[in-house]
Amino acid sequence: MTDIFFGTTTTLNRFSFLRANDDFISRTIVDPLSPTRLVFYKQDGKNGVHPYMIQRSGKYGLLNLQLNTLPSHLVQIFHDWSAKNSKKTIDLRNDVTLVFLGLDEDGLDEKYLFNENSLTSSFIYPNSYKLKDYPQFKYDKFQGTPYYAVDVTHCQQLQNYLSSFEDVDIVNSMMSILAVSKNESSLFAYSKMYMDWLMRNRFCPGCGQKVIPVDSGTRLLCQTPKNECPVKSSAVSNVCFPRTDPVIIVGAVSSDGKKILLGNNQRHPAGPNGKRMFSCIAGFMEPGETIEESTLREIWEETGCSAREVKIVASQPWPFPANLMIGCFGVVHFDGVNELINTELDNELADCRWFDADEIKTLLNGGDLEDVSLPMEGSIAYELIKSLALGKY
Ligand SMILES: [Zn+2]
Repeated sequence: MTDIFFGTTTTLNRFSFLRANDDFISRTIVDPLSPTRLVFYKQDGKNGVHPYMIQRSGKYGLLNLQLNTLPSHLVQIFHDWSAKNSKKTIDLRNDVTLVFLGLDEDGLDEKYLFNENSLTSSFIYPNSYKLKDYPQFKYDKFQGTPYYAVDVTHCQQLQNYLSSFEDVDIVNSMMSILAVSKNESSLFAYSKMYMDWLMRNRFCPGCGQKVIPVDSGTRLLCQTPKNECPVKSSAVSNVCFPRTDPVIIVGAVSSDGKKILLGNNQRHPAGPNGKRMFSCIAGFMEPGETIEESTLREIWEETGCSAREVKIVASQPWPFPANLMIGCFGVVHFDGVNELINTELDNELADCRWFDADEIKTLLNGGDLEDVSLPMEGSIAYELIKSLALGKY
């Protein structure tokens, strides 16, 4: 399933073991020859964090600037961050917040800069500028272009600078985000999930004290003295890690492959064209549950149908705000009872139907089917439905 958005084409090597290496982090920021690149976000109190994007001629790109092309007074802000990062004194409420994302080991080439949807390259560099002239950042035996996510919410100077560019805006629209290239969507999912987590977690869940981002923004440290905080004293860890919430999403199919079970969620009423989206069954996993158990439970609770076999097939990070979609197939053996639909158990679905695989194939090929529409391409739901309709499961 290579057509899935968000995470399937990540080309950054995260080098997670370097996040806590202050010398490495500091050099990626203060070395004037490092090609370090920045992806920018700003908080919106109600709706989380949103990226700065370039929009030009109907195309979108994730804004992605090289640190050392910024005016020197702005570069200084990042030097200050680096010093505070080393001393573990960053204040989530007042300081610019950074997260080290990794190294693009192939450096400044086509991945994030020259694909057809990305306008970033022409935006940053004048025509005469030769990207390949810029040296790679090297550290020990590692090299590449360092990438950071930056939250500018508490830095008016950076906000002013970013808003001075024509065609650059803070974007809060799923459709705009889905218009970027797959590489950019992976970079977006990764960076946005960290930015969102830092915005939503300012106090220790164990003792309520303020937390400090450490390891270049990838962990949160409680300042309460040891043994006085249940998080800090925990045998598992003395810090908080980012949260990822697993969600199972299942394409349910009859054992002969001829029928596919899809539901219309109460949250998705008919659009202006009268069509309602029918999609896979999905739901949050619960503590103490296997993926297989969760899948069977969700099918039954939402549709009343009893499935038996579960096959885990693919996964997709879903950064709204912190989900991991685990894509499965569930097989229902028709016996006059197992396949009976009842949506009144948890009332999540407004409608649920067994479709002929051929009907779905027609829809996928651009055909029409009554009031039915399918989830958007690039989503794991779309890919699961496509696989079932084509008999690939
Ligand atoms: Zn604490």
